[in-house]
Amino acid sequence: MPTRGLSDELLDLLFPPRCQVCDTLGGEAFCATCREDVEFIGAHACLYCGAPLPPAAPAEAVCADCREGRWFSGARAAGLHAGALRRAIIRYKYHGRTRLAAPLGAMLVDVLRAEDERRGLPLGQCAALVPVPLHRDRRAWRGFDQAEMLCGAVSEATGLPVWSDVIARVRNTTPQVRLQGASRLENVRGAFEARRRWKLRGRAVIVVDDVMTTGATINECATVLRAAGAVAVYALTVTRAAPGWHPAALLSDTDDEQEAI
Ligand SMILES: [Zn+2]
Ligand SMILES: [Zn+2]
Repeated sequence: MPTRGLSDELLDLLFPPRCQVCDTLGGEAFCATCREDVEFIGAHACLYCGAPLPPAAPAEAVCADCREGRWFSGARAAGLHAGALRRAIIRYKYHGRTRLAAPLGAMLVDVLRAEDERRGLPLGQCAALVPVPLHRDRRAWRGFDQAEMLCGAVSEATGLPVWSDVIARVRNTTPQVRLQGASRLENVRGAFEARRRWKLRGRAVIVVDDVMTTGATINECATVLRAAGAVAVYALTVTRAAPGWHPAALLSDTDDEQEAI
């Protein structure tokens, strides 16, 4: 429609399209320069939870955390929570840069396609995408649900349905990023409840979130979903906190909160 075209042109003049991560002018929401700065995790990762392995570790190894046992069946992330990807998550989540949902969602689709039938995330066996739920108060404050928007982008590309109604956050928790280690486990315990259990019974699902830090939130969601009848719960996130041996781990989580204010 001509009027629509005109208003789009006018909008471009008033608000020229920019990279949503570095603000460089251009048509892409996540520009090529920012993309080059992303540390994609790739195949040299824990077979089970997808944490990057030290360069010297043998292929197909399982990390120390996973040897202690987890409730989820496998997890994968697109990249490390560092550099441009970390900035992208902060801007997406705390600064309302929702145009990033599409490029970040596309990164999740790349991970799913690369993993396909591998043990950590067997796409073909999964019935649905389940966004890690926000508490309704936080949803109202933020104005959008970051995990649900990511699910939408993945669903469009894969045809997997999004089940936003099978798990609810019944307690508003302190953001995990403000807590350390064991208190993260305590913080999310009992925070979620399953709904519409009949949908879950006998099904494998993929829980989707923006960041996986220690995995405590994902683990708690998986516990609740499995108790409700899901046979397997996989996790897919855009970023993953750098493991202790990685130089990016020196960046403290509290930086994120400061940038978020
Ligand atoms: Zn950029
Ligand atoms: Zn692991």
